[in-house]
Amino acid sequence: MKEIILIKNGELVLKGLNRNTFEDILIKNMKKALKGIGEFQFTKSQSTIMVEPLDDDIDLDDAVDVLKKVFGIAALSRAVVAEKNFDDIKKKTLEYLNERLDEVSTFKVNAKRSDKKFEMKSPEICREMGACILSAHHHLKVDVHNPELTVTVEVRDRFAFIHGDSIKGAGGMPVSTSGRGAILISGGIDSPVAAYMMAKRGIELVAVHFASPPFTTELAEQKVMDLLRKVAAYSGPITTYVVHFTELQEAIRDKCPEVYFTIIMRRYMMKIAEKLAVHQKCSALITGESVGQVASQTIYALGCTDQATALPVFRPCIGMDKDEIIKISREIDTFETSILPYEDCCTVFTPKHPKTRPQIEDILKAEEALDSEALIERAVNSARKTVIH
Ligand code: ATP
Ligand code: MG
Repeated sequence: MKEIILIKNGELVLKGLNRNTFEDILIKNMKKALKGIGEFQFTKSQSTIMVEPLDDDIDLDDAVDVLKKVFGIAALSRAVVAEKNFDDIKKKTLEYLNERLDEVSTFKVNAKRSDKKFEMKSPEICREMGACILSAHHHLKVDVHNPELTVTVEVRDRFAFIHGDSIKGAGGMPVSTSGRGAILISGGIDSPVAAYMMAKRGIELVAVHFASPPFTTELAEQKVMDLLRKVAAYSGPITTYVVHFTELQEAIRDKCPEVYFTIIMRRYMMKIAEKLAVHQKCSALITGESVGQVASQTIYALGCTDQATALPVFRPCIGMDKDEIIKISREIDTFETSILPYEDCCTVFTPKHPKTRPQIEDILKAEEALDSEALIERAVNSARKTVIH
């Protein structure tokens, strides 16, 4: 029996005239994601995209696993392909859904007939198919309100497709329909979640990580790459910069008041990330900050951080509790990696009593002690670029 995957795109439907472009981007993203699995053909048809394997060896379970992570998909269903005559539709339905129909005790049939020339109308398909299923599975009852299984028959232009319940997709918008943004990624729990959340809104990701060897280790950097790989399963490839941050941190430690250490460091992260972001045509910076989480994330400190960059800063975790962030990190499988105990450059030289109500004037004055331009330029030039898949 020939099987395909039917893709229902959620929010895309709202996009009116842009729908075509959005669907094309979604198809491009699906193609990229399925690259390691095999060749597929994609066909658009009335807010559904049909994904057809072109090779008999392809494991559709693998394809579904990959597609479940592609943003812009509301639901997906594995479906069997039938000829457009009711005998074949019946035969394929009973064969294809046999096991599933044995497992449940109630069902209903749902018919969609986009080919209006098909000889039977939808209610008739439902009736006939319902009767046919009941006579093959005597234990079953029809329940139109709360069925354990919905059998869907879709009669389309060339073939009919039959499937059981659909699988929930990742939702959101196809990546790169909303421009690009640069995620400041640490090895922590929050920033991978923030990256995932913005990719879900269609933003293509570039990543910037600050490393401070010898205070931070090769392993810490590896951990960040592992996290990005997990995010990339959703967002697609992520162009990543690792910036050598030691010189700047040491300059701040040596020349600025200790109480401002973290906030000034944060501001330099923004300034450096901004330069790399602009170079990569990003229109926003993204961080994992959340109000009140630590001293550098009070409303006052965040204001001082924002002042360091002309780009908008997106902080999708801003109003979330840690346990809400952790819930998402578990769902996207970054949590276990995030909690591995390696030093981040933020935990090096942490002040004992950081100012929670910093004033921007005081900070700007403190920063005068630094040879800012040269330090920033050297940090930007130190950036090593890789693409994480
Ligand atoms: P995370 O927020 O990533 O879980 P964290 O809570 O330990 O880790 P914070 O000290 O709260 O990190 O940092 C706040 C934000 O600053 C992070 O979410 C991240 O966006 C950014 N950031 C922190 N450290 C780094 C780093 N080494 N490189 C890039 N960005 C960083
Ligand atoms: Mg944090």
